Amino acid sequence: MRVVRTILELRAAISELTDSDPKRSDKTITDTQFKTTRLVGMVPTMGALHEGHLSLVRAARKENAVVVVSIFVNPAQFTEDSDFTEYPRTEVRDVRLAASAGADLIFVPSVEEMYPSGFATSVRVGGIITSSLEGAVRGSSHFDGVTTVVTKLLLAALPDSAYFGAKDAQQIVVVQRMVADLGIPTRIVVCPTSRENDGLARSSRNERLTKDERSRAVAIPQALDAAAVAVAEGESDPEALRELVLRVLKTEELDPEYIAFVDPSSLEPVAEVNRPTLLLLAVRVGDVRLLDNVHLLNS
Ligand code: AMP
Repeated sequence: MRVVRTILELRAAISELTDSDPKRSDKTITDTQFKTTRLVGMVPTMGALHEGHLSLVRAARKENAVVVVSIFVNPAQFTEDSDFTEYPRTEVRDVRLAASAGADLIFVPSVEEMYPSGFATSVRVGGIITSSLEGAVRGSSHFDGVTTVVTKLLLAALPDSAYFGAKDAQQIVVVQRMVADLGIPTRIVVCPTSRENDGLARSSRNERLTKDERSRAVAIPQALDAAAVAVAEGESDPEALRELVLRVLKTEELDPEYIAFVDPSSLEPVAEVNRPTLLLLAVRVGDVRLLDNVHLLNS
């Protein structure tokens, strides 16, 4: 495992690792094996790694010869200064955890490396997929920050596959749109949300919950479960489902920022839950915003 801090170092290290694998002249290796020995997988993160991030690293490890984990707290995607400055930074621990989950290279660029003096470019995905939900609450600059940094990370490592968590469902839709529109030759792999024993989605932000807030936050996965059960039992009216979600959240005195029933690809609101639908929740628990979602009628 190696920690690299510049894009040039990252590229050199990836070339070294992919070139050191068996040579094409070795006739005992099949074409598929040859290709597999050169695959590069990337897991973009903002650090403060937890089991959710590590599940992405392990997924990448299974499918690639070289696994790159990036750790970069991206100032451009934060819309509240305090959220950026208070975001946990735990590099030494992160490096140890990423390595133990199978990372070969850990890319930890500085802000200057990612946004050198004079930086003036932005990658922007338009339409409802960026203007709604998180885009509406956090402002349009949030997703511009995400798409610009993800583009830059993908160009830095040129991975065959990049691994993202289903927990950030809107981010996945936006990144998939961007990769398709720009013809970036990276496969976007969606990994399931990793949860605590009581169902709360793992998040670096959970660390900031007080003991009382942490126990009340369990109403978030409970509200999603209640909606999934109601849909399985035949409820298809988004308004009735919204009331149900609200009721469960209220049991722990939680107020949602939004409860949305949308098409999983277009993120357009659905009038009736009679086809695959994504239920997204954003809930503020004390000072901490938590996101979660569930796919309804998925199969
Ligand atoms: P972050 O460091 O929060 O930007 O997250 C980096 C990546 O890890 C994103 O693709 C997230 O969706 C993913 N991730 C965060 N939490 C989880 C989780 N609980 N389960 C699965 N993936 C996650």
